[in-house]
Amino acid sequence: ITEVFTQAMPVLEKLEEAGFEAYFVGGCVRDLLLERPIHDVDIATSAYPEEVKETFAKSIDTGIQHGTVTVLYGGSSYEITTFRTESGYQDFRRPDKVTFVQNLDEDLKRRDFTINALAMNRQGEIIDLFDGLGDLKRRVIKAVGVAEDRFHEDALRMMRAVRFMSQLSFSLEEKTRQAIINNHELLSKISVERIREEFVKLALGKDSRQAFKDFLATGLSEECPGLAGKKDQLSVFTDLKAGPDDEAVFWSLIAVLINLPADKISPFMRAWKNSNAMNQQVRQIVAAFDLLSRGEESDFDLFEIGQENLEAALKLAGLLGKPLSSQALLDRYNRLPIKAAGELAIDGQWLIKEGIKPSPELGQLLRKALEGVVSGQVENSQAAIAEFLAI
Ligand code: ATP
Ligand code: MG
Repeated sequence: ITEVFTQAMPVLEKLEEAGFEAYFVGGCVRDLLLERPIHDVDIATSAYPEEVKETFAKSIDTGIQHGTVTVLYGGSSYEITTFRTESGYQDFRRPDKVTFVQNLDEDLKRRDFTINALAMNRQGEIIDLFDGLGDLKRRVIKAVGVAEDRFHEDALRMMRAVRFMSQLSFSLEEKTRQAIINNHELLSKISVERIREEFVKLALGKDSRQAFKDFLATGLSEECPGLAGKKDQLSVFTDLKAGPDDEAVFWSLIAVLINLPADKISPFMRAWKNSNAMNQQVRQIVAAFDLLSRGEESDFDLFEIGQENLEAALKLAGLLGKPLSSQALLDRYNRLPIKAAGELAIDGQWLIKEGIKPSPELGQLLRKALEGVVSGQVENSQAAIAEFLAI
């Protein structure tokens, strides 16, 4: 039992002392048994949210309508959720009604996969109703109960299945796989934001290439924005030298694999409900990658690409097995006289003081000075630049 659980034990103790049942549940138990790092400790309890709040000094109502209270204790925070079942799944999405129940068994039944339906009590005993322990050993993702039904209740679970494959290097249990194949179309009922969250976790997991193969083979990719009909192009992902380890590089990779023209990247990124910042970054990375691939980049191009996007474009090239001379390009970048426009010895104010009127010409002079300095034609000093610009 790790440090994280030792720290969390008093939380279970306090709930039990107050007369309630309480267990560690879900991902944290799974990760403990797999000896993976544990990020959040989730607790399931028979106490109602109000009762949880009364038991602890500091709490936050994070999802009280779903029965979840976040408790701050000993410098950490814990999500404590009342035992519940879910019902009234409409449109193959999240339940619209949660019902609190009095025992753990009911709560474990609503969980997605056997390995996520494990609980642990204060004595360190594992409660395992669906042979999650066996599936951990066999390294398979298997739905709790009848897979078909479970994906009908909540179609996002199909994406979660391939996401966990990637993160854990597990395979899909056969009936679970068949149920995904039969029901992949239901994924279209799920909001893009929720699909994206699982997709990015899949992409950045340690076994993403294998999981991506199943993402394509089960038909799930057909239900994703911009990916329908692109199976062949996307299958290159499964043969990459390594998987991506950066989200922006991942989206850039997808854009390159499906041959998106420059002006189609933004609509694609928007269709996935990515942030404007991510959208912009991906456009810049792909543009940099294209430029570097042609091998015609000037020092000023490198300056405009900037360190972050240069490194990302080189990562992308590395994943695709493109022989770009990364070290040489980075060395060239590092030797640039300045790395940002702000480092230029002159600015607009200075030009105005030198008698240039605010005008388009002023902008052109600034640009000329910047290009001159970046390309090493002129030293970065006011005197040298003034002479260079002949003002
Ligand atoms: P992670 O390490 O990524 O947080 P996790 O297993 O904790 O993995 P969460 O999304 O945080 O995953 O969910 C916590 C637990 O809640 C899961 O382990 C599972 O038991 C249950 N769960 C989450 N989403 C669903 C779902 N869509 N259907 C059924 N159970 C779910
Ligand atoms: Mg979690």
